[in-house]
Amino acid sequence: MDLKFTAEEEAFRTEVLDFLRERLPQRIAEKVRNGRHLTRDDMATWHATLNEKGWLANHWPKEYGGPGWTAVQKFIFENECAIAGAPRIVPFGVNMLGPVLIKYGSEEQKRYWLPRILNGADWWCQGYSEPGAGSDLASVRTTAQRQGDHYIVNGQKTWTTLGHYANMIFCLVRTATDVRKQEGISFLLVDMNTPGIEVRPIVTLDGEHEVNEVFFTDVRVPAANLVGKENKGWTYAKYLLTYERTNIAGVGFSVAALARLKRAARKLTRNGKPLADDPQFAARMAKVEIDLENMKTTNLRVIAAVAGGGVPGAESSMLKIRGTEIRQEISSLLRRAMGPYAAPFAEEALEEGYAGEAIGPDEAARAAAQYFNNRKLSIFGGSNEIQKNIISKMILGL
Ligand SMILES: Cc1cc2nc3c(=O)[nH]c(=O)nc-3n(C[C@H](O)[C@H](O)[C@H](O)COP(=O)(O)OP(=O)(O)OC[C@H]3O[C@@H](n4cnc5c(N)ncnc54)[C@H](O)[C@@H]3O)c2cc1C
Repeated sequence: MDLKFTAEEEAFRTEVLDFLRERLPQRIAEKVRNGRHLTRDDMATWHATLNEKGWLANHWPKEYGGPGWTAVQKFIFENECAIAGAPRIVPFGVNMLGPVLIKYGSEEQKRYWLPRILNGADWWCQGYSEPGAGSDLASVRTTAQRQGDHYIVNGQKTWTTLGHYANMIFCLVRTATDVRKQEGISFLLVDMNTPGIEVRPIVTLDGEHEVNEVFFTDVRVPAANLVGKENKGWTYAKYLLTYERTNIAGVGFSVAALARLKRAARKLTRNGKPLADDPQFAARMAKVEIDLENMKTTNLRVIAAVAGGGVPGAESSMLKIRGTEIRQEISSLLRRAMGPYAAPFAEEALEEGYAGEAIGPDEAARAAAQYFNNRKLSIFGGSNEIQKNIISKMILGL
């Protein structure tokens, strides 16, 4: 198996790097690099820039506006973007709903919704999880009862990321109860501005408002917003999850985070010496770097297999576990390196253009908050324990 990039792939990388140099606003990259707040507008600006180039929906087929890239090109693009400090593509519309509509939506739904994902007319969020239905997702209890041309939706979703920015939510809803639980689920597109919807913030351990609870009380949803067939939503839900786990290893994010950690470890001193020279700290940094190199190789092996027509199976679960463990270890080391500077000190210091006195190095901003925030990595997209279950079933047959 050849893990080296071809000359064409290296040329593609150069094209991506040139684009990032010309079009990624340094103001935004600087925020990403130092963990500062990104506004809704920052994220929308980056989406619009990618869309203009035709690179936003980079895994959609060409006929729907994708660039027609190979798995290797997508890997190169995603990693170079992360290393350059580009904001992540908000996944809900582009990476999750788009592929489901392309595969299972009606022609009319594709014609209407797909261009709106690309041009930013709609901001989507994901209404899967509920209290009592996370790992055991098929236990969703939010109901949708058909009344004429509408469904009437009642229930609650939770952990809805960026739901406070969204005008649309795609939901798993229960449309039948007298069958096996997987067979009574439907996939519904809901306008967040419909009467009866209430979004309440959940403030997480890092003090941020990123996730929400969404409540539905007698919400009328046009039956035309049902994707595919009634009670077949579980099939579409699982298809979407395979996209949610794409590139979840996040090699580029780890490379960028490790660079930030190294910068900080050279700048900060303990007993008059750079922290990077402390043998214990240096050993932990070296270990995580070796782990990252190993994971990169595994990731490339999986991509080479996909490029050769294979389908990633247990490997994507392995990548999810290792990738998130590595990201968590790097954020733990950064927090440790910063010592007291890692703790939040002045809220306004996290905003762009803060002119007050800086406390600690630039790399310190939000180091503790990011450490706490990164705890989520081993939970969402299927928790790491669930990934281990998948591996044991697929490889060990348990
Ligand atoms: C920051 C964040 C953002 C999120 N964003 C969204 C979103 O936008 N939309 C959305 O729908 N959901 C979202 N989620 C929800 C996420 O998908 C769930 O948290 C996840 O599926 C786990 O479900 P749970 O929280 O209900 O935990 P539970 O399923 O209750 O699990 C609790 C613990 O038990 C373990 N466990 C459960 N079952 C098993 C088993 N069979 N074997 C071994 N261990 C097991 C789990 O690994 C976990 O450690 C988000 C979550 C977080 C933390």
